[in-house]
Amino acid sequence: MNYALVTGGSRGIGRAVCQKLAAMGFPVLINYQSNRDAASETQKIIAEAGGVAELLPFDVCDSEAVDQAIDTWQAAHPDDYIGVLVNNAGIRKDTLMVFMQNQDWQSVLNTTLNGFFYTTRRLLKGMIGHRKGRIINMASLSGLKGQAGQTNYSAAKAALIGATKALAQEIGSRNITVNAVAPGFIQTDMTKDFNEADFKKMIPAGRFGKPEEVAALVGFLASDDAAYITGEAISINGGLYT
Ligand code: NAP
Repeated sequence: MNYALVTGGSRGIGRAVCQKLAAMGFPVLINYQSNRDAASETQKIIAEAGGVAELLPFDVCDSEAVDQAIDTWQAAHPDDYIGVLVNNAGIRKDTLMVFMQNQDWQSVLNTTLNGFFYTTRRLLKGMIGHRKGRIINMASLSGLKGQAGQTNYSAAKAALIGATKALAQEIGSRNITVNAVAPGFIQTDMTKDFNEADFKKMIPAGRFGKPEEVAALVGFLASDDAAYITGEAISINGGLYT
């Protein structure tokens, strides 16, 4: 079976992506860091809709933990492989650079950029061997335009877009596509302390996006129909640019 792994699949955009991929017929591996209840809720929602999902917790920042979790899963599933990877896990630690602590910088870079590297590297050989794969990286509008108070987050997401473009060139001939999705403001825990009434005045669509809308784009990029799209960073932001 061709599985899909979604990092940070317990909540928010990741949960919606898990639901979408399960509805498309992929057995889904729901990764999370610590929120087991939320991950189990994602699994339950998928099962109730007739899909298949397993929990696969690991900290994407921990290279050994990534390898160990995926090695253990692979040993228990010798005939299966992970053909779709959505690098979605992310955090933000916003503050002006003048006040930013080393930990604020490092934790955001670790989660988005190192997490992408460790997880993707582990799964690449399997995709290359199967001559098929889809890698979708959750970037951000902040990584395209930069955002005050988010030098760490903007740097991490811009670097993720650079890595997306480079890897797409490395493995394009192997029938593996690598793309980034760059959402604007989406209604999740990550944005729950933003006042939507203030921010939405800047957004041509007049509202925050829904996780399901991002998941629909990810689902398309994971599908056979998107085989000729690679190395792209696709915005989904209600018309909000610079
Ligand atoms: P969220 O609701 O805060 O959920 C974050 C998810 O990431 C959770 O599943 C969390 O797991 C997981 N996670 C965090 N650190 C992890 C780690 N070290 N290892 C494994 N999993 C980890 O966030 P969201 O809004 O859905 O955002 C998802 C992605 O979209 C992020 O990459 C974010 O930067 C990006 N994004 C979001 C927006 C937005 O407006 N919401 C806009 C642009 C881009 P636990 O549940 O275990 O904590």
